[in-house]
Amino acid sequence: MKISRVISHFFPNRCEACDCEIEVDAVLCSECGKLIKGPIMAPFELAHIDRAYSYWSYDTPLREMIHAYKFGDRPKMAGLFSKMLLEMFLAFGGGVDTVVPVPTTAEAFRKRGFDTNHLILKKLSGDLDVKIEDVLVATGKRSPQSRLKLADRHGNVEGKFRVKRELSTGKIILFDDVVTTGATVGQCARVLREKGVKEITLFSIAKAKK
Ligand SMILES: [Zn+2]
Repeated sequence: MKISRVISHFFPNRCEACDCEIEVDAVLCSECGKLIKGPIMAPFELAHIDRAYSYWSYDTPLREMIHAYKFGDRPKMAGLFSKMLLEMFLAFGGGVDTVVPVPTTAEAFRKRGFDTNHLILKKLSGDLDVKIEDVLVATGKRSPQSRLKLADRHGNVEGKFRVKRELSTGKIILFDDVVTTGATVGQCARVLREKGVKEITLFSIAKAKK
């Protein structure tokens, strides 16, 4: 008997979305998995961004997946999100190979032990020739956007990012796991443009309703 089977007997693995019992290494059951059908690849508009794309809507089992990844100590799930991102890159075909992740704050890094967006991109770089440019620094405290009321979100990110060095290209893909109002990525795009970045495409895993 495989050790994983023994473990699953005592600690059954459960679907992050509906809580039914699933295979040891799975995250969602097959029914919940079927509800995620991206990539959408129809661009949507956001301030300071040239074109924005998301893999799928946040208001689906993707919400529970991302929540488990960020707040449930499941760094291994980065591989699943990197596969979604790979599909987006292949569908986009825009010829942009430099990706700038929206950074995790130092406080969140201490709590989780990993940078959520950077880890997804690192996995992606095993499958695709992309250059990760960690030029953005989150300064100050940033509460998770998903836990704030809409009115608090813009103030929450104001002046909280800076660019630590020049980029070697004027064309980048900005990456954040979830986009809601676009306040966070808009702020990142503004400081990047101040450093001479001309063209900014946004990729996100999930797009939440404003
Ligand atoms: Zn399920």
